[in-house]
Amino acid sequence: MAKIKIATAWLGGCSGCHMSFLDLDERLIDLHGRAELVYSPIMDVKVFPAGVDVTLVEGAVANSDNLELLETIRRNSRILVAFGDCAVTGNVTAMRNGLDRDEILRDVYGELGVTFGKQDGTVLPVLHESVTPIHKVVSVDAYLPGCPPDADLIWYVITELLEGRQPVLTEDLLKYG
Ligand code: SF4
Repeated sequence: MAKIKIATAWLGGCSGCHMSFLDLDERLIDLHGRAELVYSPIMDVKVFPAGVDVTLVEGAVANSDNLELLETIRRNSRILVAFGDCAVTGNVTAMRNGLDRDEILRDVYGELGVTFGKQDGTVLPVLHESVTPIHKVVSVDAYLPGCPPDADLIWYVITELLEGRQPVLTEDLLKYG
């Protein structure tokens, strides 16, 4: 029988959620026995594949590349999981909301930053005026909160989904920040 296909993706986030994913440690071997990882920042696959069963999406939508990848993921994933607080609420990535985008680009990169940050996206992705959590852009099937989510919680959510069950996040499992 074909293995379940899983993927992980990295939008506007710090990759801390993926570090926590790696904290699954020996459970990664168990996961490998039950599922095939087909796309992830921890592997060298350039194009998001079709027919993915479960995709964990880290990070919020902060620029045009994030938006394009998220829409591609949604079209090609049966179950999409908001992975970590940036995906769930915007969290750290959204801390720039309310500030002027051009001022931020100027402060960080100087005048050239404003020029490049505003261009048409052919060289660099266009930075959005504000950051949005992923459920504002596409439908989300499950939430995995935490900054980063604890490895035990990641394991619980993944294994429930692999068993065809919707994970139930009881109060003791719900931790933000
Ligand atoms: S939720 Fe926390 S650990 Fe995950 S990407 Fe955002 S800031 Fe980083």
